[in-house]
Amino acid sequence: MGWSADTIYHGGPIVTMVDDNPSAEALAVKAGRIVAVGDLKTVSRYRRGCTRVVDLKGHALLPGFIDAHGHASMVGMQAMSANILPAPDGPGGSVASVLQALREHIRTSPYPDRLNGLVLGFGYDDSLLDEKRHPTRDDLDAVSSEVPIVLIHQSSHFGAFNSKALAMAGITADTPDPPGGVIRRRPGSNEPDGVLEEVAFFDSLGKMFPANDAQLAVDMLLAGQAMYLRYGYTTIQDGRTSAAQTQVGMLAAERGLLKADIVAYPDVLDAGNLSLMAPPWFHDVRVTPSYRNRFRIGGIKLTLDGSPQGKTAWLTQPYAEPPAGRAPDYAGYGVVDDAVVRAVFTQALRNHWQFLVHANGDRAIDQMLAQFALAKEDVPGVDVKPVLIHGQTLREDQVDRLQTLGIFPSLFPMHTFYWGDWHRTSVLGPERAENISPTGWLVRRGMPFTTHHDAPVAFPDAMRVVASAVNRSTRSGYVLGAHHRIDRWTALKTITSWAADQHFEGASKGSLAPGKLADLMILSDNPLTVDASKIADIRVLETVKEGRTIHEARAQIPARWLTASGAGDVP
Ligand SMILES: [Zn+2]
Ligand SMILES: [Zn+2]
Repeated sequence: MGWSADTIYHGGPIVTMVDDNPSAEALAVKAGRIVAVGDLKTVSRYRRGCTRVVDLKGHALLPGFIDAHGHASMVGMQAMSANILPAPDGPGGSVASVLQALREHIRTSPYPDRLNGLVLGFGYDDSLLDEKRHPTRDDLDAVSSEVPIVLIHQSSHFGAFNSKALAMAGITADTPDPPGGVIRRRPGSNEPDGVLEEVAFFDSLGKMFPANDAQLAVDMLLAGQAMYLRYGYTTIQDGRTSAAQTQVGMLAAERGLLKADIVAYPDVLDAGNLSLMAPPWFHDVRVTPSYRNRFRIGGIKLTLDGSPQGKTAWLTQPYAEPPAGRAPDYAGYGVVDDAVVRAVFTQALRNHWQFLVHANGDRAIDQMLAQFALAKEDVPGVDVKPVLIHGQTLREDQVDRLQTLGIFPSLFPMHTFYWGDWHRTSVLGPERAENISPTGWLVRRGMPFTTHHDAPVAFPDAMRVVASAVNRSTRSGYVLGAHHRIDRWTALKTITSWAADQHFEGASKGSLAPGKLADLMILSDNPLTVDASKIADIRVLETVKEGRTIHEARAQIPARWLTASGAGDVP
């Protein structure tokens, strides 16, 4: 018979993510697709002289991970930056260790040159630095006063600039605070101390990058892609792109530079109006059901509120501790009017666009539910599988509404680890905090859902996503909402088969079955059997897209410690 395989994998657990056939001994790939999965004897029938046989040596083979929500372009900026995140993701435990990481980055990274000398650091968290403050221009000038240095806070809402960077941004003692932003000053003086908030930060950061450098923008997206490949992703989301970022994705695809599939969701609102939805922009950039050169536009993105850890999520009940300067009944705020939300949903339904809706606070989720119900009346009978992104404070009654309305939930249970203690003590209080990312309510109703990392908010570390959904352990070791813990099989489905379904790609991706794409990934250990406390330590050894190896780990160190310049990436 004419059966032949390009590659056969065997010799380790093969986790298929197919419910009624969860494991296999061997898997055969031909021309980028899976041709056989099963016992070794059956699959071996596909072996010919030319077949490459891969012995997994006890490591686990799984479907490539599918990114339910992240930001590939922004991960690229993170990848070009010194890693100054707090433990366990980086060395950001004190101002001194941050400065040390910057010095090392300047010595070893190719990116400052690529950025016209700009030195970026990403991910410090003032509340987790020993000094409990932001680094200042004086701290950074000690590293260099000659090259511009900009540190980006983990929330991306603050930045710390050295004197050179402040000068390049045109910020002096005479510069007034811009509307929606704050230029922090030295005590008793007008002199900027280097820390910029919100609009002051965004505007200044924009001025630091070489203008109109399309190649740099492409390089940034590719750096983001490389980071994702290291964590085993074969389908990557760019979950809120500007018009320019969307075009960069298309350009990278045209040049044949994408190794994994990238699906973009352009931000439908440009500075709070509907301009992006009007021709010519949205006219030219069609939502595309299939990938062209590994890129497609999956739909649109709409953001309804902020983040709970920053206390800008829109809640129905006040925050446990209001932020400085806010009244005790402060409950966050919405950012889009009801009428605009309804208009966006209606237009999306008319055009058959899928839409992702960022809503963290339960009040913002109420807004999404109410306006979507109205839009469904405007345009009946169309299903675009809208996705609720984050839903951090989703209530149980809202879960039922999601089910009725056909809204697909994508939750963010990594919050239980990264901000779980903070949610208990300051954001929501102990009771409400138990029910953040309420995966248990979804499981009990038999609802499919996904989980995500929202990279670069957290590293695109799929194993840490699984670990937090399974363990719900906070940084301090407290178990937050034990009734929402999910089993490992379900947790893996939320980043494989269900994540494929969320993107309408379940027919070709998300599980290991004959006919599906050979999007694969080899893990150091089997996440179904390793000790629960060790799930987050599982490393990705190899990532395969349609039969071709697109990433191979070389160093035997936890993948999350690798930075863009240090990792094994197959050219
Ligand atoms: Zn979001
Ligand atoms: Zn996001």
